[in-house]
Amino acid sequence: SVAPNIAELDASKFNITRSTNLRDVPLPGSPEELSHSHCTDHMVTVRWTDVNGWETPEIRPYGNLSLPPTASALHYATECFEGMKVYRGYDGKLRLFRPDLNGQRLNNSSQRCSLPGFKYDEVKKLVAKLLQIDGPRWLPEPGSFLYIRPTVIGSGPHLGIQVPKEALLFIIAVPWPDFTKIKKNPQAERPKGLKLYASSPDSIRAWPGGFGYAKLGANYGPSLQAHGKAQALGFDQVLWLYGQDRQVTEAGASNFFIVWHNAAGKLELVTAPLDNELILPGVTRRSVLELVRERLSENFVGKLAPLQAVERTLTIGEIEQASKEGRIVEAFVSGTAYFITPVAMIRNEETDISTLGANGEPAGYASQIKSWLEAIMYGKEQHDWAYTI
Ligand code: PMP
Repeated sequence: SVAPNIAELDASKFNITRSTNLRDVPLPGSPEELSHSHCTDHMVTVRWTDVNGWETPEIRPYGNLSLPPTASALHYATECFEGMKVYRGYDGKLRLFRPDLNGQRLNNSSQRCSLPGFKYDEVKKLVAKLLQIDGPRWLPEPGSFLYIRPTVIGSGPHLGIQVPKEALLFIIAVPWPDFTKIKKNPQAERPKGLKLYASSPDSIRAWPGGFGYAKLGANYGPSLQAHGKAQALGFDQVLWLYGQDRQVTEAGASNFFIVWHNAAGKLELVTAPLDNELILPGVTRRSVLELVRERLSENFVGKLAPLQAVERTLTIGEIEQASKEGRIVEAFVSGTAYFITPVAMIRNEETDISTLGANGEPAGYASQIKSWLEAIMYGKEQHDWAYTI
């Protein structure tokens, strides 16, 4: 509950300052695009103070922020963010995918690090305003997307440890390589999936009572040491394990799924649960589970047999056992940035575990789910998960 004189976040009023110095739009696959840093012409900024609440949103030329070196975010990790995409549909319209889930998650994350809450559905309206301006130049091609990064930081100058009295919400948009369209080396054999490196017991991403369920920068910085080590060894992502029983939680910036015949022989799609708050509640994760429950739990789809979606604790030991017994059908990760990607193997300590199906290929569940999601994102299927701008 907010005192009446404290303003709510409100996207219906905003000030626009148009850029007079438009930036080059990077070509697909170019070094600028691969840099993940070449943002569009404009950004949204909204200031908040504990005295006045949310000020009028500004749409202004993309540029550096000015912060006091004492700013809360720079010292105490009062920072959280979202990752979403805007898609240019085959009908020419721009769409966001379930943006209220990102708005709600940002609101939760913000409050988890003592930053202000807000009316979550204003976030998608602010994103829409930005894209109405930058969409035509930056996203002309049907079937392409931009990555959107809404962020909240503690921006006030008080170095004393305290709940932030000032904050800044900003939204930037950045061209993001579509790895499904870029061939790094056309001669190289197509990899069958990601290689994951299971975390060791001395490196824990999230713990009960912590904040693994929130999208705080504080979850990411300290995880990069393990990520760097995994990459140096030729792996794509860290698979984060938790606890003495080595529970499989999530992989890098994505949720993890396995399709297997369980020990009783039943075909299942299994992913880690949300109730112990160890993993990020992915928008893609939720969508995968909902699609599987709606479309794959009873009927055959093409060559794919029906299967049950199960959210439960699963351990790396169970995966290793299933792999030895030939019960794994497919494994994949899900997330906004890297979408739905099959997993080929997991290294756990000294053991390499294959997660490919019987004939050494992913069975096709990931690819079916991906094409359902793409149809919604790009407007081939009309669905209420899409929010048209
Ligand atoms: N886990 C983590 C740790 C992530 O950073 C992300 C990316 N936001 C995900 C899972 C996937 O979430 P989503 O499907 O909402 O992108």
